[in-house]
Amino acid sequence: MAWQKQLRSALTKPEQLIARLGLGEHTLLSSNNTLDAFPLLATEPFVSRIQPGNDADPLLKQIFPAIEEDVKSNEYIDDPVGDLDSQARPGLLQKYHGRVLLIVTGACPIHCRYCFRRHYPYAENSINPKQLDEALRYINNDKEITEVILSGGDPLILNDKKLSELVEQLHTIPHLKRIRFHTRTPIVLPDRILESDLSWLTQSKLKTIMVLHCNHPNELDEKVKTAINKLAEHNMLLLNQSVLLRGVNDRAEILIQLSEKLFEFNIQPYYLHMLDPVSGAKHFNVPQEQAITIMDEVRTKLPGYLVPNLVRECKGGLSKLPV
Ligand SMILES: *Cc1c(COP(=O)(O)O)cnc(C)c1O
Ligand code: SF4
Repeated sequence: MAWQKQLRSALTKPEQLIARLGLGEHTLLSSNNTLDAFPLLATEPFVSRIQPGNDADPLLKQIFPAIEEDVKSNEYIDDPVGDLDSQARPGLLQKYHGRVLLIVTGACPIHCRYCFRRHYPYAENSINPKQLDEALRYINNDKEITEVILSGGDPLILNDKKLSELVEQLHTIPHLKRIRFHTRTPIVLPDRILESDLSWLTQSKLKTIMVLHCNHPNELDEKVKTAINKLAEHNMLLLNQSVLLRGVNDRAEILIQLSEKLFEFNIQPYYLHMLDPVSGAKHFNVPQEQAITIMDEVRTKLPGYLVPNLVRECKGGLSKLPV
């Protein structure tokens, strides 16, 4: 399949990216330590939306391992949202009432430099078949769980057979009502959607929600639109979450364009996350006061249903907290 080939040939070396985009000699890279711990990874469809020669391109910033990542700071830590403390079972996180999050894979089609899971020990904590059985047993035994979120990593990196089996297994749990996918794949690897038989999406009684992840309107091109249209044919709620990122989308005008374009694609804005203080990502931080000012302006220009909820995740919180 072309999408698997695209994934295998995704750019992993900064020199490749610099050459591909004709970036300046002065482009400063993070140290090898930082790169080894969280390598560059970017698919061709995503790279093709970056303006060549523009060091400040908002899509480039999301994937480029910049020298600022080497800055250490006490408040920026490896597990900023307390995921490791929230494990109900290996690979199964339960933080909030009624829903659990299943880490079905550690792999992603892209490495976002601001990712709060960039230091998550996936090798030990993404799920193996035995642990999956155990996680499913846990969900089966707790009647209050009505929604399972398939996350990672990115669940759509799994092949259709795997996903079909997973949906099948979840379908047998009587108290489950909803299945949700947290994914960036339709944005960064639209061929994965376009080439696939997605019948597993509609094979169960469960309501389906897909929460996409897109931060800037330039991420949404015609190919993505076609992929989203195909998803929409499978009768699901399409939402989007973004992260507020300095130098990427920290202006009201950009966020307004993003919401408008998402809606044009039949995607509803859901969350705008404050950056989680993960080590290596401090340079992406937008201070809270500035975030509030930006959102005040966004609210004056858009209908309420196009305004995402600005939230912050706090260790031990019972929900994502409104800012
Ligand atoms: C964000 C998150 C959820 C989902 O929260 P919603 O408010 O329902 O979108 C669920 N579980 C975990 C562990 C999360 O981090
Ligand atoms: S796709 Fe999601 S999980 Fe993967 S690196 Fe990006 S933000 Fe993190």
